[in-house]
Amino acid sequence: MDAQLRQGFLEFRAFVNPLVALRAQLVGEPYLLDQVVDGRLVDAEGMAYTDLLSGWGTQAFGHRSPAVEAALIAYLQGASPSIYPSGISPFAGLLAARLEQRCGYDAAFFASGGSEAVEAALKLARGATGKPRIACIKGAYHGCTFGSVAMMQAGPYRDIFGPHLPQVDALPAGDMDALERALADPQLAAIVIEPIQVEAGVRVPDPAYLERLCGGTGPDGILLIADEIQTGMGRTGHFLDSGAWPRQPDAVTLGKALGGGAMPLSAMLTRRPIFDRVYGQLALAEVHASTFGGNSLACVAGLAALELLDDAMIDEVARKGHLLRAALDEHVAPSPLVGAIRGKGLLLGIALQAPDHPCYQFDYLGAPELAAQPAIGMMLVHRLYKAGFIAQICGHAWQVLRLQPPYTTPDAELAACARAIGEALDYLWDLQ
Ligand code: PMP
Repeated sequence: MDAQLRQGFLEFRAFVNPLVALRAQLVGEPYLLDQVVDGRLVDAEGMAYTDLLSGWGTQAFGHRSPAVEAALIAYLQGASPSIYPSGISPFAGLLAARLEQRCGYDAAFFASGGSEAVEAALKLARGATGKPRIACIKGAYHGCTFGSVAMMQAGPYRDIFGPHLPQVDALPAGDMDALERALADPQLAAIVIEPIQVEAGVRVPDPAYLERLCGGTGPDGILLIADEIQTGMGRTGHFLDSGAWPRQPDAVTLGKALGGGAMPLSAMLTRRPIFDRVYGQLALAEVHASTFGGNSLACVAGLAALELLDDAMIDEVARKGHLLRAALDEHVAPSPLVGAIRGKGLLLGIALQAPDHPCYQFDYLGAPELAAQPAIGMMLVHRLYKAGFIAQICGHAWQVLRLQPPYTTPDAELAACARAIGEALDYLWDLQ
């Protein structure tokens, strides 16, 4: 490994976040990653890993996608500005037009992080409706800025940062009565929902709930906002997961894979009449802004990502999703440690249930600080590292292993991953 990069890993520990480095060390996470070889991550010792997490969803097209990199190199070899002082960027224009072709939303706001796209949607909702209240769904994860954190599931990501943005309330997931009460609230501007709540444990909403949500909201009433930062860009076997809902939401957010895995890029997409209600006067046209939003390099990466993500690739996601699910049903579901397998496309969750034995608890494993959390998920993650797979648990549900591999993962690697999870679960079961 390049000596300067090795030094960089040490300096991360010293100058960025020592406990993140410690956590990686404790769970045996392969973090001295050196290079990408045939789509796999190779560490300083030469061990290759299949990334079942897609770099937290960003690497949907595979690590170091050649097509995205070629587009970036071509742009860098030209002479176009990175930032247009007018704010009118042809690259942002092209990207917004491509997004409109793909999913019908004709008004785009670009930013860098997912959370910023969520903020843009929250401000759109208040601005467009003139109403103050926002409803979200319990278990949510919409990012870590203050607006997003106001919608965060109660717990460590949220609790110490209060007071939170006022007039934001969480509806219990799937509770029809609570939904009816929210829909009857004359002060409600919007309902924000993740098509699949990933951090809550890869929870898929009930179709009847979505139907009522779609029917009870609308562009002239309570806005429906789908946070597609995890589920969008083909992940569930549709360009947008909400594309299969009874009605298209009034606004959606995209992030993660939108930048082709190379650039930070997010978008809040809506329809022109809603956008214009907020920003449709000259004096207000730019009152929500982001300096780097829509910068050339990010949009070039976004254009390359959309070029890759054609219908054939989305069909492949659906096919590979079925294949992975079938392999998990065969090798993983029979384990007594598995409660359920759920999800859609290449976004699957394995809910684990550990027996009441001390070997499955954090204090036994030497981390009493974490004793309130289930340890079984981390134990499985640890075993998978040893087997050459990078996977993770869900942020609000540590007993759920999430699988969201790149769309380019070969079928044989998906099958091998299911076998490896099955073997790891057998090993963990025998620990008692
Ligand atoms: N929304 C959802 C559904 C997410 O999963 C995330 C990140 N995991 C975000 C928003 C925030 O995105 P970012 O971390 O890029 O701000």
